[in-house]
Amino acid sequence: MTMQAADFLRPLPWLELPWQTLMEAIDQDRVAHALLIRGVGGIGKTRLATDYARRLLCQKPQSGKACGQCTSCHLFDAGTHPDFLMLAPEEAGKAIKVDAIRQMTQEIALTPQYAGYRVVIIDQADALNGNAANALLKSLEEPPNGTVIVLVTDRPQQLPATVRSRCRNLSISPIHSDMALQWLNQQGIVEDAPALLSTAAGSPLRAASLEGSEAVKKRIERFDELMAVFFGARDPLDVAEIWSTKLVDMELLWMASWLADGARLGLTEGRVPARNIDLDAQLRRLAARIPVSFLMETYDRILKCQEALRGPANRQLVFEEFLIRWAEGGARPQ
Ligand SMILES: [Zn+2]
Repeated sequence: MTMQAADFLRPLPWLELPWQTLMEAIDQDRVAHALLIRGVGGIGKTRLATDYARRLLCQKPQSGKACGQCTSCHLFDAGTHPDFLMLAPEEAGKAIKVDAIRQMTQEIALTPQYAGYRVVIIDQADALNGNAANALLKSLEEPPNGTVIVLVTDRPQQLPATVRSRCRNLSISPIHSDMALQWLNQQGIVEDAPALLSTAAGSPLRAASLEGSEAVKKRIERFDELMAVFFGARDPLDVAEIWSTKLVDMELLWMASWLADGARLGLTEGRVPARNIDLDAQLRRLAARIPVSFLMETYDRILKCQEALRGPANRQLVFEEFLIRWAEGGARPQ
């Protein structure tokens, strides 16, 4: 994997603390030979792991950072460092298979080409299938000298306990929205920042990558449709027809997050801000109008829709059933 040189120059403030933790371990000569970096998606965990690998491999680190000048840094930046290996699923949603782990095990058994560390990153480590995870155990337990294996995951609970327990854990906390917004502003994204951030479920990196895409517009369209059905301004069957042809998984997650926000606002009587910061006012109105129990019921139904749509379900029927129940909630006397 190659990384743009600029990536190393653009600091992510929320990663400073975990970075310090890693640097202290280097300074105190207690580098973990097996490390698990965990935290929600889209906050730069892979970037942290990659910066860490670059730092470990650098021949002349300067004030805690890779120098960017030595042979090792040049090879790393070109994506051709012989002592660095990056494993990930070949395709999104596919498993990391045992063959990939066996090949990695053979490679790390050889002497490193440069006389330093050898670093393996296993990105989306939750995609390791059972055999692959088993094949990895021995390397995690007794890696060859100087080898550092870094696992990165959004879903640590999907990893076997045998893998998790053999790693030192580094947990990255979710980012406070103020910090995320400030960072987006620094990237020149100002006006659209709140909507982009909510569309990206709070991930500033994903938010930046969505700039100029259709995602923000789509999200507001879905929100308006959902509200219109609830308040009787749109026919649930018409909206179900639209959704059946174009709705994707991410859009159901947006809906789930609005309902969760509504329930949270209802339960706290509006004392917490909505996580969908750009829709705070609308969600407050929703929470004032709809009983928490109905919001939670609907939240569960969204998750069931999502489950059904992964199978061979009739999409139109799934959405019709969901939207008719939702519209009935709106028609109930309050
Ligand atoms: Zn260097």
